[in-house]
Amino acid sequence: MAEGGIAAALANVDGRDNWQVHFADTMRGGQYINNWRMAELHAKEAPDRVRELEAWGALFDRTPDGRILQRNFGGHKYPRLAHVGDRTGLEMIRTLQDHSIHQGIEVHMECTVLRLFTEGGRIAGAMGYDRERGRFRLYRCKAVILATGGIGRAYAITSNSWEYTGDGHALAYHAGAALQDMEFVQFHPTGMIWPPSVRGILVTEGVRGEGGILLNKHGRRFMFEDIPENYRSQTADNEEEGWRYTQGDKNARRPPELLTRDHVARSILREVRDGRGSPHGGVFLDISWIKQRLPNARDHIIRKLPSMYHQFKQLADIDITATPMEVGPTTHYIMGGVRVDGDSQMSTLPGLFAAGECAAGLHGANRLGGNSLSDLLVFGMRAGEFAARFAAENAAAAIDPAQADDAVRRALEPFERTPGSGGEGPYQVQQELQVMMQDLVGIVRNGPEMERALRGIERLRKRTKLVGVAGNREYNPGWHTALDLGNLLTVSEAVTRAAIERKESRGGHFREDFPQKDPMYGRFNIVVRKGDDGEMRLEREPIPAMPAELSRVVEEQR
Ligand SMILES: Cc1cc2nc3c(=O)[nH]c(=O)nc-3n(C[C@H](O)[C@H](O)[C@H](O)COP(=O)(O)OP(=O)(O)OC[C@H]3O[C@@H](n4cnc5c(N)ncnc54)[C@H](O)[C@@H]3O)c2cc1C
Repeated sequence: MAEGGIAAALANVDGRDNWQVHFADTMRGGQYINNWRMAELHAKEAPDRVRELEAWGALFDRTPDGRILQRNFGGHKYPRLAHVGDRTGLEMIRTLQDHSIHQGIEVHMECTVLRLFTEGGRIAGAMGYDRERGRFRLYRCKAVILATGGIGRAYAITSNSWEYTGDGHALAYHAGAALQDMEFVQFHPTGMIWPPSVRGILVTEGVRGEGGILLNKHGRRFMFEDIPENYRSQTADNEEEGWRYTQGDKNARRPPELLTRDHVARSILREVRDGRGSPHGGVFLDISWIKQRLPNARDHIIRKLPSMYHQFKQLADIDITATPMEVGPTTHYIMGGVRVDGDSQMSTLPGLFAAGECAAGLHGANRLGGNSLSDLLVFGMRAGEFAARFAAENAAAAIDPAQADDAVRRALEPFERTPGSGGEGPYQVQQELQVMMQDLVGIVRNGPEMERALRGIERLRKRTKLVGVAGNREYNPGWHTALDLGNLLTVSEAVTRAAIERKESRGGHFREDFPQKDPMYGRFNIVVRKGDDGEMRLEREPIPAMPAELSRVVEEQR
């Protein structure tokens, strides 16, 4: 689904770029609670990983002299995103699949892992089921790498796929590994909100970059009303200047619609909460207004925003060259995840590794666009190398048959309760959780609402124990959803507890009862573990001091 590109300081478009600038940009974006070692390795190694993808066959867009083209993106000082049109993710998957097949790597398609096994304090294996036949599979292994993506489906409105149910986060947590930074969830300001079937699908920042404006139901351009003090000098204070910026005038300041993602998302939410929203609970994003400025506006929009034009035409029957779009914030990414060692990507559980969105550390309190694809390339490779080394150096651990039998029994439990006979189907519980997380642990948070969410999660957990499914085990989405529920509840609880614990506002985490950033909270990460009594435990893990040479880089780039 990734569109924009992979961040890597190749310096193909602007020769001033280098790993130091990328490192400093990433730390600033993460508000300095990132794992600085990961930020350093990421900035240094991303260019090699992009070149490697190219050597394996990825066809990137080109500069006129034939090098990999790079584009501008929020928070990156120089053009840095290697891309393939607006379908970079697809090209990465195609390339990596081709390569792995040629390497002889065995792939178990459509197989969902349900449980990790441990023995003597380290990984011993995993159990999953193949969705096609519904049969269980037991994997004996010395090392496991989690790469299961994010948790967006814990929220009602998300740009994420149906698979983003926090499986890797929950598997690691229940196996005894630590999670960190779970309070930091990124909400992208513009997702589709109507019709319901497409709610949450991303509407690219490019619409606002081309001159699109945000309006409330009274037709008022509300973004001018709340420009944060620290951005005031860089932001246009009138519509004329904002328009000139979008048309490439280097002397003009950017319009307030292009303020940071967290601020725009909160401003939209305020309009909706105060009763000035659009009919379906968002605001209007209007690009069609530029016909007042440009003679050939319709052709211009279709040429500059072809995917958006087709997306709205096909999915919502709306012609964006003539009609404003209805948009609202959409849950996009989780910065939190499995706590890993910066070099090896091993979690706090020996033999268990994590990479990509389900791991934590690189992005701190907020991720820059493009830094996720580079994250998973750099740390996917590192996790692979170190897991292979771990497997070579350690003997296999035995899987306790009782643990395996228990995993199978629990997985089949929903079939013993058919919906209607005292229990209920899984979708209602899932939907109630999503709506509750959206309302109570969403973009703007406060203590009492999050305490309510915790009680709600507990109630839903009880109901989950009674959830029943009908049908058989072959491709049964109801069964799959029933099995996902436990993971969604685990990650929802971790997000909520960590968000209650962080009594300040930083990056993706905004609390209306603590709206300021507190330097004291910049000294540690919040870590979540399963206690011996099975309850969730929170700890504050101090962030180690940055080495002098990295501090110098940060200072020089400030
Ligand atoms: C619309 C959209 C646009 C984006 N654009 C960009 C962009 O331009 N640049 C950028 O850097 N980032 C972008 N992102 C973010 C980025 O795409 C993701 O963070 C990234 O792809 C995550 O990669 P991953 O390898 O961690 O997980 P994924 O690539 O999502 O892979 C996770 C895999 O794990 C599998 N899985 C899940 N649970 C289980 C289980 N229990 N058992 C077995 N398998 C399981 C899933 O089926 C899936 O195949 C975008 C995200 C979205 C949603």
